[in-house]
Amino acid sequence: MAQLSADCFAFGGPLLSVDEAVARLPSLLGVVEGSESVTLVQADGRVLAQDILAPLPLPPFTNSAVDGYAVRGEDLPAGEEKAFSVVDFVQAGASANIAATAGKAVRIFTGAPMPAGADTVFMQEDVQVAPDGKVVLPSGLKRGANVRPTGEDIAQGQVVLKAGHRLRPQDVALAAALGQTSLEVRRRVRVAVFSTGNEIVSPGAARGPVQLFDSNRFMLMAMLARLGCEVDDLGILRDDLAATADMLKHAAAHHDLILTSGGVSTGDADYVKSAVESVGSLVFWRLAIKPGRPVAMGVIEGTPFIGLPGNPVASYVTFAYVARAAVLALSGAPMRLPTPVQVRAAFTYKKKPGRREYVRAHLRQAADGSVEVVKFPREGAGLLSSLVDTDGLVELHEDVIRVEPGQTVPFLAYSSLVG
Ligand code: AMP
Ligand code: MG
Repeated sequence: MAQLSADCFAFGGPLLSVDEAVARLPSLLGVVEGSESVTLVQADGRVLAQDILAPLPLPPFTNSAVDGYAVRGEDLPAGEEKAFSVVDFVQAGASANIAATAGKAVRIFTGAPMPAGADTVFMQEDVQVAPDGKVVLPSGLKRGANVRPTGEDIAQGQVVLKAGHRLRPQDVALAAALGQTSLEVRRRVRVAVFSTGNEIVSPGAARGPVQLFDSNRFMLMAMLARLGCEVDDLGILRDDLAATADMLKHAAAHHDLILTSGGVSTGDADYVKSAVESVGSLVFWRLAIKPGRPVAMGVIEGTPFIGLPGNPVASYVTFAYVARAAVLALSGAPMRLPTPVQVRAAFTYKKKPGRREYVRAHLRQAADGSVEVVKFPREGAGLLSSLVDTDGLVELHEDVIRVEPGQTVPFLAYSSLVG
């Protein structure tokens, strides 16, 4: 199991900024041990355990970038067009039999190797075929044009993908282009997920008149799956201190991370925090973030614990900005989110200083064609529709106290926040 390092106990402050909390994560969370070999088909989203070196250059041989006619650089028409006889024909996957010599061109297609002697290709769209079968090539083309030299993309021996890189489809493509059939990746992070609360029931179970179907657990499991985790659905914890403590302790023995939602604020029935303290320790339990102030981090017998708030929007936001970074730290991948884009606000908003706020918003095209961001009209942290009907979050830093229409604000789409 991943171990939480001892220095995590050093922090005792009650309200931590989002940046401070995230900056602490790498020292608190060790990368999970162990790796496995997966086929290319299974590799998307996994974290590389080893550097990948190119065993061959890309492209592996010099070839034509277009369909056209290959000639020697020294024969390029200077000043006016010039007719060439066509001496051979070379398709992708074949080799030319005849070299390009003075005044001769070779018909060539995209991806075919360059004939001996030739170093320049005229695009077929730029030439004229004369009635006698010769091709008339225009002047003005540079030597080497429309040719892809060996190694122009990747040099042999170059490190192309580094250990710790989370593989994307284009990375899998590169590994395939280099002839790899399998990749050594870190093992998946094992995460236990619980919901909490007497009012919460699983979809499919009988719901009493004052109960809600559990939404957080399914949202969090989906987010974890997108991060490549092995997710264990451990159901719903009732509001009971002893039972909660017991279940958390049990989960700690078999997982790299325990993730809960609900039960971490200061209500009488919020037992999660006390349960963690009874079987482990808390590192922090309140962040200066809205929505989502109660975010607890702790350790239970060496296994990290993160308790997210119960309100679904707060759960979503704190997962995206805190728990996601913890999962990436455990998986050995960089934790950084993409840089937000700066967009023009089409709303007014007032905010308290000293805390980070994330505002649900959608993008729209203004009359002049530029993009502007519009705040969702309501603010409740329980409104799932506010997440469903928006595109992402506007990030308002601690020092911001208001937003006026026309002001530029940082925005991140949900697609970069989860996954
Ligand atoms: P809590 O932090 O436990 O006080 O929960 C805050 C709010 O979130 C309450 O209205 C809960 O009913 C709601 N809530 C807690 N857990 C869930 C869940 N798993 N799914 C949907 N709503 C939840
Ligand atoms: Mg609760």
